[in-house]
Amino acid sequence: MDAQPTASHFVDGAYCEDGAGATIECVFAATGDVIARLHSATPAIVDKALSSAKRAQKEWTGFAPVERGRVLRRAADILRERNRELSELETLDTGKPLQETLVADAASGADALEYFAGLAATITGETMPLGGDFVYTLREPLGVCVGIGAWNYPTQIACWKAAPALACGNAMVFKPSEVTPLCALKLAEIFIEAGAPAGLFNVVQGYGDVGAALATDPRTDKVSLTGSVPTGRKVYAGAADGIRHVTMELGGKSPLIVFEDADIENAVSAAINGNFYSTGQICSNGTRVFVHNDIEAHFVSRLVERTKTAKIGDPRDEETQLGPLISKAQREKVLNYIEMAKAEGATLAYGGGVPDGLADTGCYIEPTIFTGVTDEMTVACEEVFGPVLSILTFSDECEVIARANDTPFGLAAGVFTRDLTRAHRVVAALEAGTCWINTYNLTPVEAPFGGVKLSGVGRENSKAAIEHYSQIKSVYVAMGDVEAPY
Ligand code: NAD
Repeated sequence: MDAQPTASHFVDGAYCEDGAGATIECVFAATGDVIARLHSATPAIVDKALSSAKRAQKEWTGFAPVERGRVLRRAADILRERNRELSELETLDTGKPLQETLVADAASGADALEYFAGLAATITGETMPLGGDFVYTLREPLGVCVGIGAWNYPTQIACWKAAPALACGNAMVFKPSEVTPLCALKLAEIFIEAGAPAGLFNVVQGYGDVGAALATDPRTDKVSLTGSVPTGRKVYAGAADGIRHVTMELGGKSPLIVFEDADIENAVSAAINGNFYSTGQICSNGTRVFVHNDIEAHFVSRLVERTKTAKIGDPRDEETQLGPLISKAQREKVLNYIEMAKAEGATLAYGGGVPDGLADTGCYIEPTIFTGVTDEMTVACEEVFGPVLSILTFSDECEVIARANDTPFGLAAGVFTRDLTRAHRVVAALEAGTCWINTYNLTPVEAPFGGVKLSGVGRENSKAAIEHYSQIKSVYVAMGDVEAPY
């Protein structure tokens, strides 16, 4: 597959280029080969994208909501029809195994488009009777929304932002991560094919400076970022200047709590999925696995046994279960966390290095399990964003809740227990935006997704996302005369 796109940007319904922008090299993480060369957007491209979005948004509000829904629905169908081709591109863009991308990326994007297609015609206001006079509300679009993506789920992130934004009547300018510039361009093509007006969904490439230019432009009404907390702070501050709406989907250090009565095989499955899927590059991962003292030995032995069987290798091979990390820099960062964990006294139970035979190709790293991790160790406090699982032990419910919450993050949390009342009691006490009972990391479009504390503001997916991509106009209607004092 030739990964080189027709041009770097997709603006006003067509590919466009400005060779004056800084070069972006797209590297296939499994081989280190440069598979595409693009350019970062110049101010002229940014200007063109925002102007065309502003114009297209006016045109889009002239579509009946049910027609808007139809466009989104057609886009969902096209994503599904092209799932294989899009999954292969996602694998080249990110290095994630085809085994994953075939089911988790375009498929999840299509679900979001289909869901918000169905909701589009239901986004309405309400009427408040006042005994004669009355008030009605209109739920209106915000205008031009800027989406800024991280590199771990380029198709999914673009769809999770575009679907509710467009369903509510907004236009979007999307900037993918400079590390994974390819997939969002395909989505832009698909929207045009599905009947969206030119300019409704534009893609501009670029580094942080392009994101900042988009987020602070007076034509921008909302910024939705998926990224790290430090970037979130900058983007939030930039948006504040213009009192713009924001959605911030940021990092995490989520707890997965396994009580002594848990189904151990299921809990091990969840720990594997919640730490090693996408080679650990998932914001909501349950990287602090709190295991009750009574079952630790059994849990760790099954976890290690099963992790040893993981098939690591070329992500283009459908048998591969664990691909490389996104980049050499990310691998260095993760290896550094592994060294720190060892130096701070954690016990390496499995992995910790580069797999045999894969040192010289790509950015591979072994799935890594530490036991004996304590709350203050760096590996238990900071987001690693790689396949590094930490086991912490506990003996008491109140103790584990307090320790699970003792983090500035609050993205997600999981609880494994057969005790129904305990499950709900513990979840109620956990400071996290998204929780799972007896499973982990499932994010259907029907469920709100997002974080509390430093992990973010706003929610993606579900009806909740409508609140974040629309605003209410309140209209007072007088049915009688106007009284005045003089
Ligand atoms: P990052 O913060 O480095 O970059 C995210 C995006 O922001 C990129 O497109 C980047 O170019 C852009 N950017 C950087 N500086 C900017 C600035 N000053 N103004 C505007 N835009 C700017 O994040 P990353 O390394 O690409 O992704 C990993 C991070 O994303 C992790 O922290 C992870 O937890 C988080 N993440 C969160 C979610 C979620 O839904 N909560 C999902 C995926 C990833």
